[in-house]
Amino acid sequence: MDFRLDEEQQALRESVREFAREVVAPTIAEHYEQHTFPYEMVRQMGKMGLFGLPFAEEHGGMGGDYFALCLALEELARVDSSVAITLEAAVSLGAMPIYRFGTEEQKAQWLPKLLSGEALAAFGLTEPGTGSDAGGTRTRAVLDGDEWVINGSKAFITNSGTDITALVTVTAVTGTRPDGGKELSTIIVPSGTPGFTVAPGYSKVGWTASDTHELTFDDCRVPAANLLGERGRGFAQFLRILDEGRIAIAALAVGLAQGCVDESIKYAKERQAFGQPIGNYQAIQFKIADMEMKAHTARLAYYDAAARMLAGEPFKRQAAIAKLHASTVAVDNAREATQIHGGYGFMNEYPVARFWRDSKILEIGEGTSEVQRMIIARDLGM
Ligand SMILES: Cc1cc2nc3c(=O)[nH]c(=O)nc-3n(C[C@H](O)[C@H](O)[C@H](O)COP(=O)(O)OP(=O)(O)OC[C@H]3O[C@@H](n4cnc5c(N)ncnc54)[C@H](O)[C@@H]3O)c2cc1C
Repeated sequence: MDFRLDEEQQALRESVREFAREVVAPTIAEHYEQHTFPYEMVRQMGKMGLFGLPFAEEHGGMGGDYFALCLALEELARVDSSVAITLEAAVSLGAMPIYRFGTEEQKAQWLPKLLSGEALAAFGLTEPGTGSDAGGTRTRAVLDGDEWVINGSKAFITNSGTDITALVTVTAVTGTRPDGGKELSTIIVPSGTPGFTVAPGYSKVGWTASDTHELTFDDCRVPAANLLGERGRGFAQFLRILDEGRIAIAALAVGLAQGCVDESIKYAKERQAFGQPIGNYQAIQFKIADMEMKAHTARLAYYDAAARMLAGEPFKRQAAIAKLHASTVAVDNAREATQIHGGYGFMNEYPVARFWRDSKILEIGEGTSEVQRMIIARDLGM
């Protein structure tokens, strides 16, 4: 039992930490304020190999693993979550379905540009009328000769409308199962396909430098060969992708929680009240000690879930626990960090304001906290 990082993992963490401090920190506030996508940062992250971290070298990846991705996400989110979610969605939701379930032709066509960060893929599961209950998918795809004809819409899809978005994988009803239930399949829809429309970006509370759109498919035709994996396996595919994704979101949440500790210590040492730094007061010290405790235990939870996943053991419950705990901790720490900053914590010029605005979505995206509790209870036999 050893959760210490080896030399390679420490080196990765150091290089991402340096990138986050030197490249992301100085300019991200401007992107956040103006709701612009940080293309230059994405380009540099591509050069660092971050988009290829958990993929085999034969497909253009770095030959690392999912834990390496998590370490990178934690370090990015310690400084900014829009950049971190851009990487998380591109890798764990965008490229991973093609890597896990794609044909050799699909892998050869898409993975080299996705794993280098030259292009981004998006994951289209949520719809305007259904999110947690993904089985309620209404988007339909009908096979017409050698083409799928897709009709429907998807909501809140990350990385779906950037200048470098290459495709979205869309979950659609493709028929009826023998038991009368919906047959769900996943289909690759390249950007620019006629009938595929990307709405203007949402006005969001947080993650404002990340790219999120509603998508519409209106008699959108793609080749039959764009089916991802087997027909009727859509449900099983997205469950697998979301189980893994929860560990990545937990890592991102730990990063935000730790960033709150960093900023609070800095501020508490500088800010004077009643003749001394506020960090001299035990009330402030205890807040920061509690924040550190929460970030640390949430980190152990995601390390454990990742270790089980990489060992090929069941990890569904541990991934849900990690995501539930880390997102709760992120919200708690963002609230306390804001409190420590007093009125300045409510000003957008301070990083904690971004942390506060970015924390809430962690209790919602890739499965709400209620859904995580449902998964844990079900796994306990309830
Ligand atoms: C910024 C952003 C980015 C996103 N990116 C993506 C993406 O890239 N791809 C993608 O497919 N989706 C994406 N999503 C969608 C996200 O995963 C969903 O919003 C989330 O899963 C919740 O679904 P919903 O919004 O439909 O809420 P609902 O499912 O409508 O839930 C509403 C409330 O009811 C609760 N609830 C639902 N069912 C139950 C139940 N049985 N018992 C108790 N409570 C219940 C929920 O927990 C929640 O509190 C994104 C969302 C946002 C906001």
